[in-house]
Amino acid sequence: MHVSSNFDAGNIEVLDASDPTNVRLAIRNDAGDEHKQWFFFRAVGVRDIDCVFRIENAKDCSYPKAWDGYRAVASYDREEWFRVPTAYVDGQLVIRHTPLTDSVWLAYFAPYSRERHHDLIASCQAAGATHEVLGQTLDGDDMDLLTIGDGPAPIWVIARQHPGETMAEWWMEGFLGRLLDPDDALAKKMLAKATFHVVPNMNPDGSRRGHLRVNACGANLNREWETPTMERSPEVKLVRDRMDATGVKLCLDVHGDEELPYNFIAGPEGTPSWTDAREAVRQRFAEVYETVNPDFQRVHGYGRDEPGKANMTMCTSQTAERYGCLGMTLEMPFKDNADAPDEIFGWSPERCRMLGGAALNAMAAVIDAL
Ligand SMILES: [Zn+2]
Repeated sequence: MHVSSNFDAGNIEVLDASDPTNVRLAIRNDAGDEHKQWFFFRAVGVRDIDCVFRIENAKDCSYPKAWDGYRAVASYDREEWFRVPTAYVDGQLVIRHTPLTDSVWLAYFAPYSRERHHDLIASCQAAGATHEVLGQTLDGDDMDLLTIGDGPAPIWVIARQHPGETMAEWWMEGFLGRLLDPDDALAKKMLAKATFHVVPNMNPDGSRRGHLRVNACGANLNREWETPTMERSPEVKLVRDRMDATGVKLCLDVHGDEELPYNFIAGPEGTPSWTDAREAVRQRFAEVYETVNPDFQRVHGYGRDEPGKANMTMCTSQTAERYGCLGMTLEMPFKDNADAPDEIFGWSPERCRMLGGAALNAMAAVIDAL
């Protein structure tokens, strides 16, 4: 058999692949050596073999607790990603699978390739979005911005600051698809009330390099929002400069959470200027989101920041304070929604898309209060 990861977003180190019933693997560090957890590789010559893939450094990953209750995804056709038996044993992640075909792809979550990103940008442009490049990343890739609508309220939606959180870009497909659907009456109404500024992938370099959490120089972009620089975090600097120019009434920053098996919103309630009135708008957003798509819920999430204790280097806190806007972080699971588990697929690209589309209803419920 043969194991490889020398492709877009690939990440695995092969320690020993001579025995398919005990394939010894390790996850490579992100740049900067602080993080690792994303993996994505192909195994060939495995048809009908009871394969055991052993990621031996699982305990040294960024979120070792996240492996409890986690199942890896596999695909034969790179379209359908199904869950395979996975256990976290003695600090190792043990993935068992008997492939029905010669080769199989395995990953932490359904990958979202750079080619697919370009397809998304092109299809949105064909459907009427304005496409611009804000500038370049450290690896020289383009920071793509889509602008849709011409209403007075500037709404910003960004995804994948953490590149291994591919669910965030799957979510974007649903959100953008709905916004650009000419038959969607709510979308039409919203495009008259708001101008949507959308960055479907905030971290192209980390995405291509197969990182979990950082860009090409090791910067965690969601800790760069207070003082971004072109040397360390051009991705954030370019977007924040444009936000300064447009103003922001609502900012939704889309992520995935390694540990919690739920969809939830984390807010900037610890920012200095947060008010009860804005908290009420945030609650309204969440209530409507849950009603429209019950894969979203309001029971489980992060603890609330104490007043004045917000981390101002994060997008949600910085935008909430800087623009006086409704700043929010959306988290989706790597695992599944524990309230409505799907045995075959777990949390999946299709469910991400559905949740993305439903966000428009939640935004519509609060747009007049922003
Ligand atoms: Zn994240």
